[in-house]
Amino acid sequence: MNERQETIAKRLDPQANAELWGNWKWQLRNCIRSVEIFEEVLGITFSDAERAVLQTTVQRFPLSITPYYASLIDPEHYREDPVFKQAFPMPQELHVQQYDMADPLTEDDDSPVPGITHRYPDRVLFHVSNVCSMYCRHCTRKRKVGDVESVPTKQTLQEGIQYIRATPAVRDVLLSGGDPFLLSNAQLEWLLQEITAIPHVEIVRIGTRTPVVLPSRITQELVTMLKQFQPLWVNVHFNHPKELTAESAAAVAKLADAGFPLGNQSVLLAGVNDSVAIMKRLVHQLVKHRIRPYYMYQCDLSEGLAHFRTPVGKGIEIMENLIGHTSGLCVPTYVIDAPGGGGKIPILPNYILSWSTNKVVLRNYEGVITTYQEPERYQVTRSDQPWDEAMGDTQATHPVGVGRLLSDDDTAISLVPENNDRMGRRNGRG
Ligand SMILES: *Cc1c(COP(=O)(O)O)cnc(C)c1O
Ligand code: SF4
Repeated sequence: MNERQETIAKRLDPQANAELWGNWKWQLRNCIRSVEIFEEVLGITFSDAERAVLQTTVQRFPLSITPYYASLIDPEHYREDPVFKQAFPMPQELHVQQYDMADPLTEDDDSPVPGITHRYPDRVLFHVSNVCSMYCRHCTRKRKVGDVESVPTKQTLQEGIQYIRATPAVRDVLLSGGDPFLLSNAQLEWLLQEITAIPHVEIVRIGTRTPVVLPSRITQELVTMLKQFQPLWVNVHFNHPKELTAESAAAVAKLADAGFPLGNQSVLLAGVNDSVAIMKRLVHQLVKHRIRPYYMYQCDLSEGLAHFRTPVGKGIEIMENLIGHTSGLCVPTYVIDAPGGGGKIPILPNYILSWSTNKVVLRNYEGVITTYQEPERYQVTRSDQPWDEAMGDTQATHPVGVGRLLSDDDTAISLVPENNDRMGRRNGRG
């Protein structure tokens, strides 16, 4: 416990000591949930006008900051602080712009039963908790997360499990929320037992921000319980190198030592991490702590996030400065989660400059322009070779989407929207 942490702890609870500070239940009981308590604890004073606006914001989107995460804020320069910006409301959150949406990813439309989003062929997102210890101001599920009325009941969870059981295509289940690690160990154990008992579920992934905002949650008991359910992947959510403290590093090390592969999903946020230097430092720190940068998300079009959004060009610029310049292990995939529910779309700088029938012209990260000579003869490998079956490849399926246009076994020559005027005229509707 450092000095700032001691001050914060005592202001919240005169009985507090290092042991309580390191206890996640104490941290949860003492979360900062109002503007006044935040001011008191950090020793900051807002103007009356500012406080009034902030309170309106908090009524719309809940405020909760763990004492630990609050202790990372520099009270002297809090307005520029990346932790403050992620955790503390801004009046701009109330500005809803023309293109903002309550559910930009239309997770509800792809939801066969409450709590499940089944968007991709072989994996589902399972919202198992609606609570977070710290409500990220940039949360894409702002409208739902923290809304007490929609905490899933055991019956809702059972419906989700039943859906997975009845859907053999699902080989990968992502537990998300809210934060799944805010369930009790017993609840989590029950859930994981149910899910991993389903024969076609090959892996489970847990997405959690607790190692960042509530590192004391990663107890030895939790890790020991989780170890029963390998292969289990854990995805964390670090956005700034400042978040990789000694406490966070210890929590992450426990998970890595237990053998859970760790990935990181960050969100590109204006004023927080929208710089090549910060992102580079972040990915290097992550890899040093055995966390593989997985995704860097473009900020979604959720309501009240306009002040966090950067142009897509900022993300491309960051990718341009990572790819080739640093270890491939440190490079996340930059994605835009398609508004309207199309899923994640990867975005890269252009590396292919031109193409002829036998040559591809490429450029590398330094600007070297080079050619790749295509093979003179090439025998296509057909996917229906007998050895595919012999190797037990039961998942070989006919390609869909653009993959279908590329297939020699499919007669499709175009993908055409069904609801435009031209199609309407053909069908006698227009
Ligand atoms: C992100 C996401 C997944 C998982 O996608 P991966 O690219 O496999 O990590 C699954 N379902 C939904 C709805 C998602 O948003
Ligand atoms: S931890 Fe995840 S679900 Fe919770 S508020 Fe942050 S972004 Fe949203």
